[in-house]
Amino acid sequence: MRRFFENIPKDLWRDYGWQIKNRLKTREDIQKYIKLLPEEVEGIERTKGIYPLAITPHYFSLIEPEDPNDPIRLQCIPRREEVDENAQRLGEPDPFREEGQVPGLTHRYRDRVLLSVTTFCAVYCRHCMRKRIFAQGERSRSTEELRKMIEYIKEHEEIRDVLISGGEPLSLSYEKLEYLLSQLRKIKHVEIIRFGTRLLVLAPQRFFDNKLLDILEKYSPIWINTHFNHPKEITEEAEEAVERLLRRGIPINNQTVLLKGVNDNPQTMLELFRGLLRIKVKPQYLFHCDPVKGAVHFRTSIDKGLEIMEYLRGRISGMGIPTYAVDLPGGKGKVPLMPNYIINREGDKFTFRSPFGDVVEYEITDV
Ligand SMILES: *Cc1c(COP(=O)(O)O)cnc(C)c1O
Repeated sequence: MRRFFENIPKDLWRDYGWQIKNRLKTREDIQKYIKLLPEEVEGIERTKGIYPLAITPHYFSLIEPEDPNDPIRLQCIPRREEVDENAQRLGEPDPFREEGQVPGLTHRYRDRVLLSVTTFCAVYCRHCMRKRIFAQGERSRSTEELRKMIEYIKEHEEIRDVLISGGEPLSLSYEKLEYLLSQLRKIKHVEIIRFGTRLLVLAPQRFFDNKLLDILEKYSPIWINTHFNHPKEITEEAEEAVERLLRRGIPINNQTVLLKGVNDNPQTMLELFRGLLRIKVKPQYLFHCDPVKGAVHFRTSIDKGLEIMEYLRGRISGMGIPTYAVDLPGGKGKVPLMPNYIINREGDKFTFRSPFGDVVEYEITDV
């Protein structure tokens, strides 16, 4: 589609470096292409120095300029709500207590560890759960800091799964990626490595780079957790990037966040999950939006999430239905939520309701 950038030659458009170098970062950059709303102008001015602004041409080109509530626009252009009194009062910078003893490392679940390796992102999502880290500017961890994380993992034999996140972890240099992955692979108890990356959505051109793919393939098994929120984000480029990753043996799971005004309706979600299955990406989680300072205006009710889950069942394969989960405050973990299909129970005698509205009595005994 490539709206606004029709004149950019194809080889530049397909180049990740070009996408990053040409990010839109100011009010003036954006106004070259679209007319800003008053609440956006105020948002851009008042978030200066608090929450950064950057949008890749790829992501920006998905905006429908005539729609003030375009779902892409809402995710990448700041609005007044990020800094108004409500937003600041209702949210916390770090509701999940991610900050621990080793900087950038969170060890909440026994077998898994989360690493935040950079504060750089291709696009700064307005709903980001780690908005707090971006005040530090765009900076990746030094080799020394990475070494401390690796030391910790070495000392904790219960860790089998390392989730590398950021910021955008796949923005690290080849050298740092090689260092991190080769060191992790030397640790016997580390079985799988995952990257939490949104580049498939924000700059899928990253995966047109064989040198990066060579590195990822070399340290298999590697998984990708990505973050599609809306069917419009499933572009031709994203589809090509997924294909290239799968050919290198890298499976991709998706984590959607339920966002008011962006995707909080059942039909949009159905279209999103159908689209993801079509490009061979598995919807893994649907997260309830967290009470993060600067992002609370995206929150909806739990009822909305349950309504969506209810709608999906029966309309799409179970493969396309993610686990709806809410992250508990204070770092207490993720809780899965489901519509209730048991209407009544007396001992082993259950009364179920089916996804099609039938009421079914069913006795299930352990023989
Ligand atoms: C979500 C999360 C994980 C990974 O959880 P999965 O259910 O395995 O995807 C690991 N560590 C922390 C701190 C998390 O918040």
